[in-house]
Amino acid sequence: MSSGLEAVKALAAGFATTFKHLFRKPITEEYPEYRRQLPERARARIILTRDPDGGERCVACYLCSAVCPVSCISMQSAEREDGRRHASWFRINFARCIYCGFCEEACPTSAIQLTSMFETCERKILSLVYEKEDLLVDHGGKDKEYNFYKYTGVATQEGGKGEHIKEAKPVNVKSNLP
Ligand code: SF4
Ligand code: SF4
Repeated sequence: MSSGLEAVKALAAGFATTFKHLFRKPITEEYPEYRRQLPERARARIILTRDPDGGERCVACYLCSAVCPVSCISMQSAEREDGRRHASWFRINFARCIYCGFCEEACPTSAIQLTSMFETCERKILSLVYEKEDLLVDHGGKDKEYNFYKYTGVATQEGGKGEHIKEAKPVNVKSNLP
């Protein structure tokens, strides 16, 4: 008997909730006319950013590619005459990307970043393969001031080894005996 009463009570509570909503003004967000502001850390379309000098940040280290759980990043590394590494081509297959953000976490130069831009749907699956020219932007994204080549331990036009910001002088690794 008591279980019967409980069932009726549960039913009544359910119907009361439904009834309450019958008289509420519906809240409809008319997308795409209305676009909700997404949180800054929302993870959607990926970009490749530049340092404050306008140089490409990506040094083609392959870390993003290695960490990507679905293997959707590929590239080819190259080196300029001044010692800067870069990707001669860089490709992301967004048809496979799960927007986990691991690539951004792994990137040592703040080059690869996820943005909140999510409107990238396509009917043709091959259109979801983005090349470097589709990914490279002309700004620093979330990390505008960072300049990897001012800190890095390679000899560049910015200076020799050990001459960059906060950089220790190189050690002779053969002298590091236990
Ligand atoms: S967000 Fe995740 S799945 Fe997408 S490219 Fe980066 S690591 Fe790969
Ligand atoms: S985007 Fe970052 S992690 Fe990926 S290859 Fe370039 S520098 Fe390395």
